[in-house]
Amino acid sequence: MSADIADRAVAAYLGLAIGDALGATVEFMTPAEIRHQYGTHREMRGGGWLRLKPGQVTDDTTMSLALGRAILACDGRVEPLACARAFDAWMRAKPVDIGNTVRRNLVSFRHSGDPVAPPSEHDAGNGAAMRVLPVALATLGAPAGAVVAATRAQAHVTHNNEVSDAACDALVAMLHDALNLGSDGTVDHAAALVASQPLFAYAGKRRENPSGYVVETLQAVLQAVLGTDSFEDCLVDVVNRGGDADTTGAICGMLAGARYGLAAIPRRWLKALDPAARAACEEQALALLATT
Ligand code: MG
Ligand code: MG
Repeated sequence: MSADIADRAVAAYLGLAIGDALGATVEFMTPAEIRHQYGTHREMRGGGWLRLKPGQVTDDTTMSLALGRAILACDGRVEPLACARAFDAWMRAKPVDIGNTVRRNLVSFRHSGDPVAPPSEHDAGNGAAMRVLPVALATLGAPAGAVVAATRAQAHVTHNNEVSDAACDALVAMLHDALNLGSDGTVDHAAALVASQPLFAYAGKRRENPSGYVVETLQAVLQAVLGTDSFEDCLVDVVNRGGDADTTGAICGMLAGARYGLAAIPRRWLKALDPAARAACEEQALALLATT
């Protein structure tokens, strides 16, 4: 494994956590409310509707870490039952927040023991997309069919939906390109996503106040990633759109981390990030890469 890939993998995982912690402060606010309260929101200040400590992360990061541990316990394989058990244990530990679709389908898993949620056209939330990073790290360099199978295995525990699947596939492809090449395949993968699922079209009107619907989430993320040229500008752009800002922040953070590397992450954000989350992200990024 090259030092560059390891650097970008760690940056992606730290980016996920930083974007989550930064965005959580303004989750469910509108851009106008954010401007009124903070001007431009660009510091790790905690608070928000969850009353977080500065640098504290939410479900986007902690579910990803739970998934990553499950993958590591299976020697790098993404096993549906191991993922479901890990998410269920995560839910039992009373996380600071949890999405409705995640909760409903994990409760179903407790009753049925089946780690695959029933297909549902309503389950197109961003809850599977927000936690794709451990799978992207564990499948770097794997054949395309194995990547898709692994991506489905984690996603379908809670979100068995083809719109969510399209988003997860696109994000994993973008992460692989950025990690592997440090190159910019993002715009091509975004174009492929829109070609396969036209509702993801993101050009044109600025997507503000994105909801938890994965289409709106990805529209805001893609506009921010493709419309900026630094890690900091990308995250500041997306969280100031408000709405599901911890999740758009988390997804932008993983993409921008992989794209720009560790040196591009502002020191003040790294220092403010919850130390336990930071250590877990750093360690897990390298351990997951080492399984490939
Ligand atoms: Mg969250
Ligand atoms: Mg959220």
